[in-house]
Amino acid sequence: MNELIKDMERYAEANNVPIIESDSIEFINKYIELNNTKKILEIGTAIGYSAIMMAKDHPDVEIVTIEKDEKRYREAIKNIKNCGLENQIEVVYNDALETNLSGYKFDMIFIDAAKGQYVKYFDKFKFYLNENGVIISDNLKFHGLVENKDMIESKNVQGIVNKIEQYIDYLNENDEFITKFFDVGDGLSVSYRSNNANIEGIN
Ligand code: SAH
Ligand code: MG
Repeated sequence: MNELIKDMERYAEANNVPIIESDSIEFINKYIELNNTKKILEIGTAIGYSAIMMAKDHPDVEIVTIEKDEKRYREAIKNIKNCGLENQIEVVYNDALETNLSGYKFDMIFIDAAKGQYVKYFDKFKFYLNENGVIISDNLKFHGLVENKDMIESKNVQGIVNKIEQYIDYLNENDEFITKFFDVGDGLSVSYRSNNANIEGIN
């Protein structure tokens, strides 16, 4: 297993696949353990790395993960199979915004796909969240550029950074959810319903 994970990390590096940072996955795994999280929805599978890291030491955890890029989807399927985790991880090959998951409910939703679409994912998928569930969002610092805008060189990147700022404002102004921001990895947030105070490990 460890060798397979190292291979994935090398593949990600060589192919510019933005997989989760080690302190971020550590944070999420601690959350899973403290809160007895079982059902997870991930938006943005890439090559399956984060899903595998969440599932591998938690045999009760079941993950549905959505990926729209065919090459990455295939790579994820292969990696998950090689790790023997196909019973725990279901990969959906589709655009998340066009995916219907009616009937499903999750304890955690991990948003890690197109950074310009986070408000849309949040608004769509909050209906799939259990009463005590949380929505965790990754890359809110966007490689540090959200805090260092003078380093931004392209209009494209500027557009994404603006969208991330709009998402942060949207979370801060949201009455239904309380959001805490964490300076781990590339910036994480944890959002939970305002009427729910029983969450471990995020205070
Ligand atoms: N969670 C992964 C990294 C995901 S990278 C990990 O940490 O290992 C973001 C991925 O989201 C990319 O592979 C991209 O193809 C995918 N993506 C972007 N927009 C999407 C959408 N609307 N629906 C599904 N996948 C999307
Ligand atoms: Mg990420």
